[in-house]
Amino acid sequence: VDPPPTMLHAFRASARRVPDRTALAYFDGRVSYAEADALSDGIANHLLAHGFRPGDRTAIVLQNTPQFVLALLGTWKAGGTAVPVSPMYKGRELEHVLRDAQVTAVVCHERGWTSYIRQTVADSPVSIALTTSESDLQSRDDHRVLPPDARTRPEDCDDLLAAARAAAGAPVPDPGLGPDDAALLTYTSGTTGMPKGALNTHGNMAYNAQRQCQVLQLPDGATVFALAPLFHISGMVSQLAAAITGGSTLAMAYRFEAGAVLDAIREHRPGYMVGPSTAYIALMARPDASADDFASFKWLSSGGAPLPPAVVEEFQRRFGHYLRNGYGLTECTGACASVPPGRQAPVDPVSGTLAVGVPGPDTVIRIVDESGADVPFGEHGEIAVRGPMVVPGYWRRPEESAATLPEGELRTGDIGFMDETGWLYVVDRKKDMISASGFKVWPREVEDVLYTHPAVREAAVVGVPHPYRGETVKAYVSLRPGTSVDSRALMAYCRERLAAYKYPREVEFLAELPKNTSGKILRRELRGLPGQRTG
Ligand code: ATP
Repeated sequence: VDPPPTMLHAFRASARRVPDRTALAYFDGRVSYAEADALSDGIANHLLAHGFRPGDRTAIVLQNTPQFVLALLGTWKAGGTAVPVSPMYKGRELEHVLRDAQVTAVVCHERGWTSYIRQTVADSPVSIALTTSESDLQSRDDHRVLPPDARTRPEDCDDLLAAARAAAGAPVPDPGLGPDDAALLTYTSGTTGMPKGALNTHGNMAYNAQRQCQVLQLPDGATVFALAPLFHISGMVSQLAAAITGGSTLAMAYRFEAGAVLDAIREHRPGYMVGPSTAYIALMARPDASADDFASFKWLSSGGAPLPPAVVEEFQRRFGHYLRNGYGLTECTGACASVPPGRQAPVDPVSGTLAVGVPGPDTVIRIVDESGADVPFGEHGEIAVRGPMVVPGYWRRPEESAATLPEGELRTGDIGFMDETGWLYVVDRKKDMISASGFKVWPREVEDVLYTHPAVREAAVVGVPHPYRGETVKAYVSLRPGTSVDSRALMAYCRERLAAYKYPREVEFLAELPKNTSGKILRRELRGLPGQRTG
């Protein structure tokens, strides 16, 4: 079956097929497909009435809430492009994205209405700002912002919903979108530098959403839980876009907090979720989490960050579920390789790395050398991807687009290898390689070993400058509650399992490892800690 031409076609097909089904579930609030259709019409009408034109951009600076989805659909219906932005961004990061994207409209939480947003909005040609109020709501009871009826407390002034309701009845002109129009301008996580905006087309997104539905084979009426943030491409496509394409219910719980997520899982009994490995590590750390909590799941995926094999084993042992790895990037509009139904990803016997998956049916993944030529099976090279989910380019960056997407093939910046049976392995990011005494060390391999130690909760490995060796390997570790191990013992543990040049020469313990707003551990910040190199 061909994918729908745009995400609007996908949504409208579901709204026609299952109008009364819950599209969005948020604590005890529910929005049906028909209501979501009417409210997003209202948002489109509001935008258009205030000078928004097809092709304009709306920044959606929200956590996982129904308003996020309504603002997204409303923007598309007005013929615009959505720019999802992490509401945890502050100051410079936020300003960078808002200015770079040249947005016309901003939707943010009431308390996210900071001077940076105010200033950017004041500077832009047409300024539409809509705030939503749920971020101030603390208790469960206070989360009743939806459905949009009398239950909303008078002091909740949700401009977005008010505008949506006021203009919901009027017809919206057809924006005439097609597969090549930009659905999203998505900024990369900024794990390695300042985020840049990738243009994800409707065709990219509709393809990957439909593919996800096919892989998951979710039964009609299933619930998808938004574990990953919707402002990150994995949450946006593998959860939100897949849910609305499949006519499923998307359940949300504001932001990732392990206790609140467990409560939401107990309440909504979802069949599917996807999130970074750090989210699963945090769920496993909850003493009250049990196999029963995960009984409703048909499919659990980890994506967007390295998945240590030790985490997969522990999750299986404790909760009886196989955690499926998946590999993707912002520039791939979500996943480009995943573990197929009925299969389990192998672990490479030499490096101990878990395979990320196999490429989808229309996807070609090559491992290439500097010149772009294929390297033999099993050898390391850069991962290059071609397929219907690969973006046409970055926003206003022709040079970076040409360098990263030569002839439409995406150079991911990740080093990997492929085995003879077609399994793809991600070794590490090219930029994170450590050169210790001239030997290449990939931090991932060392981290995977650290994760097998019973006291280790999270681990990250970086290179630090060394007078003779150039760089040496340093590990930052956070421990599981109630355990202890000293740095000497951890180094000895790694030394037994790794070549002499690879084991960490320094171990530092931190209460928490630094993460970006999508939950990924930031090695770049560890390198920037006092006494370390920066960059
Ligand atoms: P920036 O490009 O701004 O530095 P980023 O690379 O983190 O940020 P994303 O698009 O969010 O931007 O993340 C994609 C990257 O995440 C991939 O290039 C890869 O390095 C990593 N990644 C994704 N999935 C996996 C996986 N299953 N295993 C290992 N690494 C993964």
